[in-house]
Amino acid sequence: MSRFAGKVAIITGELKKNNFVLSCIRSSGSSNGIGRAAAVLFAREGAKVTITGRNTERLEETRQQILAAGVPEGNVNSIVADVTTDAGQDQILKSTLEKFGKLDILVNNAGAAIPDSQGKTGVSQGLDTYDATLNLNMRSVIALTQKAVPHLTETKGEIVNISSIASGIRATPEFSYYSIAKAALDQYTRNTAIALIEHGIRVNSISPGLVATGFGSAMGMPEQVADKFYSVMATKKECVPAGVMGQPNDIAEAIAFLADRKTSSYIIGHQLVVDGGSSLIMGLHCQDFAALLK
Ligand code: NDP
Repeated sequence: MSRFAGKVAIITGELKKNNFVLSCIRSSGSSNGIGRAAAVLFAREGAKVTITGRNTERLEETRQQILAAGVPEGNVNSIVADVTTDAGQDQILKSTLEKFGKLDILVNNAGAAIPDSQGKTGVSQGLDTYDATLNLNMRSVIALTQKAVPHLTETKGEIVNISSIASGIRATPEFSYYSIAKAALDQYTRNTAIALIEHGIRVNSISPGLVATGFGSAMGMPEQVADKFYSVMATKKECVPAGVMGQPNDIAEAIAFLADRKTSSYIIGHQLVVDGGSSLIMGLHCQDFAALLK
């Protein structure tokens, strides 16, 4: 039997795509967002999925990819919604319950390092950017989680939050508000994991490293610059020791592992790092000791 047969999942933020072909990229050469990869994987493995984001066209691309994987049309609930709004959160949940009758898995994936409206960078970014960043990466997760808890209690369900290695313990001044939001999300994962396990709900999170998605464009990078960024980073062993850029499916597989009680039932409040070794590197690893000590 398929891994997620009989399960109903909401996966927020499926959309962005970023097409490029690079020798350092392992997959077929075209790369999609983490949410999209997770939605295709969950649906292919038997889940009924709610897919959601703000852009109708890209949402339809995700739906078509799921159908192309052989999934029956009735197993996909496609909802255009802004997850930062009350109405959007309600619509995501209500439509899922109306169409599928229950909720087993919530994947809080939608997120971004929102560019500053005044073009400022790093710790100089305005407070409006702070508000927007926290609103998307943290507040919307709290809101959707609170709304989902009664339904996940009924099914003894699972929550997987998508954080980032930017959350700490190293400094990331270039992404100051984003990393603050993800650090808060990590603590929220731990807090809810303990608070909700007594209701039978497991909460865990994934901290991806660099993954080739639409994340760069969402930050305001032109697509070509984003492509170059990912290709260069993968060649620098002090940035990605694995020597290859992470693909959305690498993260999707980790989400599936944490959302599947058969494989991870005793894992509670864990922050699973999936980063090709990036977060293990310290400044001293970037030095050529043989040359330094000559
Ligand atoms: P993408 O930009 O490809 O996907 C982000 C998704 O979030 C998009 O589908 C976007 O859709 C959706 N989204 C953004 N804002 C909203 C909103 N207000 N309402 C609804 N949906 C929204 O990036 P990734 O796939 O890389 O990002 C997925 C998660 O992974 C994020 O939480 C990100 O922080 C995290 N992450 C990514 C890393 C990477 O290197 N790629 C590294 C570490 C963490 P739309 O704009 O159409 O609404």
